[in-house]
Amino acid sequence: MIEESFEARGKRKKLIDELRGKGISDEKVLEAMNRVPRHLFMDDAFLKHAYQDKAFPISSGQTISQPYTVAVQTILLNVGKRDKVLEIGTGSGYQAAVLAEMGVKVFTIERQRELYRKAQTLLTSMGYRIHFFLGDGYEGQPQYGPYDGIIITAATAEVPEKLLKQLCIGGRLVVPKGGRDSQVMTLYSRRGEDDYEITTHGFFVFVPMLKGIVNGRENEQ
Ligand code: SAH
Repeated sequence: MIEESFEARGKRKKLIDELRGKGISDEKVLEAMNRVPRHLFMDDAFLKHAYQDKAFPISSGQTISQPYTVAVQTILLNVGKRDKVLEIGTGSGYQAAVLAEMGVKVFTIERQRELYRKAQTLLTSMGYRIHFFLGDGYEGQPQYGPYDGIIITAATAEVPEKLLKQLCIGGRLVVPKGGRDSQVMTLYSRRGEDDYEITTHGFFVFVPMLKGIVNGRENEQ
């Protein structure tokens, strides 16, 4: 357990109550979020805002998701202890930490080397045992699949077929689907070899899912 101030704990408790007020009622997810010190995932400039229910910039032009969004995606995944989950878009690593707190085996892919390195260093130092990959999430990570859950934390107009095929039968894939300005949170539940039930769960805004790997420090989006 990471040492942290009484103040940070108090602020986090208030954030959790705020999420309850916004209709998040899954206590397992709220408890997991209450255990993750979100301020450790934020850039110094935004530290004092760590427990606001907002997305904030992290390095490489990316964002740490809004806590409400993290709660919604985690609830939709509906995973249990020891399930295998693949995350596309490690970013700050916050969502991966919340999933690890749920007792899930987390595999997470990031396309930007700098973020991949930062998240891996931070989460490993916090004691999380998560599998990190630098790669293109469009390909997934078939050698560790199939997964009980796949969570895409970047916007895409089309869900890659390769990812749907890496789901177990009975598995769930959560994705913000749409164009640049807004996306619809979409849940694919795999019912059979080629049978997916699709449901939608409100509008959100994510940074785009892009192809290829970024190795340098270029401020690409
Ligand atoms: N889950 C993150 C939010 C990340 S923002 C968190 O909790 O902080 C979206 C991330 O997806 C960015 O870091 C972006 O670089 C990454 N990304 C975009 N396209 C990708 C792809 N094809 N493969 C892997 N990561 C991708």
